[in-house]
Amino acid sequence: MWTKKHNYDLSGQNTFGMKVSCACYVEYDSASDIRDIIASEELPRPFFHIGGGSNLLFTRDYEGTVLHSAIRFIRIISDGDMPLVEVGAGVVFDDFCAWAASEGLWGPENLSLIPGEVGAGAVQNIGAYGVEAGDVIKEVRCISLEDGSERTFHNGRTSADVEDECRYGYRDSIFKSPEMKGRQAVTSVVFALSREKRPQLRYGHIKTLFPETGPDSPVQVREAIIGVRREKLPDPAEKGSAGSFFKNPVISEEHFRRIEADVRTREGDERQVPHYVVEGGIKVPAAWLIESCGFKGMCRGNVAVYHKQPLVIVNETGKASPDEVLSLEHDIIAGVEERFGITLSPEVEHL
Ligand SMILES: Cc1cc2nc3c(=O)[nH]c(=O)nc-3n(C[C@H](O)[C@H](O)[C@H](O)COP(=O)(O)OP(=O)(O)OC[C@H]3O[C@@H](n4cnc5c(N)ncnc54)[C@H](O)[C@@H]3O)c2cc1C
Repeated sequence: MWTKKHNYDLSGQNTFGMKVSCACYVEYDSASDIRDIIASEELPRPFFHIGGGSNLLFTRDYEGTVLHSAIRFIRIISDGDMPLVEVGAGVVFDDFCAWAASEGLWGPENLSLIPGEVGAGAVQNIGAYGVEAGDVIKEVRCISLEDGSERTFHNGRTSADVEDECRYGYRDSIFKSPEMKGRQAVTSVVFALSREKRPQLRYGHIKTLFPETGPDSPVQVREAIIGVRREKLPDPAEKGSAGSFFKNPVISEEHFRRIEADVRTREGDERQVPHYVVEGGIKVPAAWLIESCGFKGMCRGNVAVYHKQPLVIVNETGKASPDEVLSLEHDIIAGVEERFGITLSPEVEHL
């Protein structure tokens, strides 16, 4: 079944809390509905598929139709030591994490409390604390928004014997590529989980949260992750945001050495510039760049740079307009560019 609403207020559909609307809002609860929706000529185009709206900045009213999945189910499709679990795209990702942990299934526990839905999690390749969705996804089931055909995208990362169709990278996938963007509706995702103990504790200080013997259950890991996230990140129910607003830039080694030399000249030889060597260059945390330019905690009108995590722009008063967010974004980009010669790119999708 699907329902449509014209001139729909999207304020409650984006975690930034932007007061925008769309010409039409359609919610469906089965894969076959999508074929009826794309055949319907009365629905204004273009279509945009939304999830929980937690990685979006609506900069204006949307003139087309916003689609939303209410396909919500979780079912074990093959049991054993490595169960395969199919989850509807409209399930809240954290509800799936809670379910898996309560069933004693290892895999998504480090991704606990990331806002958004399962379909978007597969599109975004969400990641946190050393684990990405692409580490546990086996396949992504979709329907084309162009011709209604079904297609399953296999993930080569979890199955060595298939072509890698999902092409998962850092917060990236085939679904975000120019040739595929906006063309597929994810209807469900199949996860490969484990009944064997498999804690992933490589990232940062996560290991120190448990005794020497490590956690006993995925519930323990989930609770620890939730505790850490609540300390650091704004709760979208209390303060609007879209999480990390900028991507961490990758620069050449030569550029990095220049920045390091400049920072040491200004601040002393002991000063370290945080960085990670990655394929293609040196990754520098955008949070460090933004903080170094003095933006951390900066409040301007109704928007602010979150005081605990400068990568996050928040709707401080709940009344922020898209223009206020865009203006602060522009000034952060300009400030970092002037000081470090690095152009930050937004992680948050602008519409
Ligand atoms: C406080 C906060 C903390 C966050 N922390 C993290 C974090 O730790 N790690 C991380 O990776 N992200 C994080 N995020 C970002 C966000 O939670 C993820 O990007 C999430 O996957 C977005 O899910 P959503 O359902 O809200 O998708 P939306 O923001 O609604 O959409 C995201 C993209 O997915 C597409 N999409 C959505 N549903 C479907 C579907 N069914 N079929 C096809 N395309 C679809 C949309 O078109 C859009 O391109 C955070 C956000 C917030 C607000």
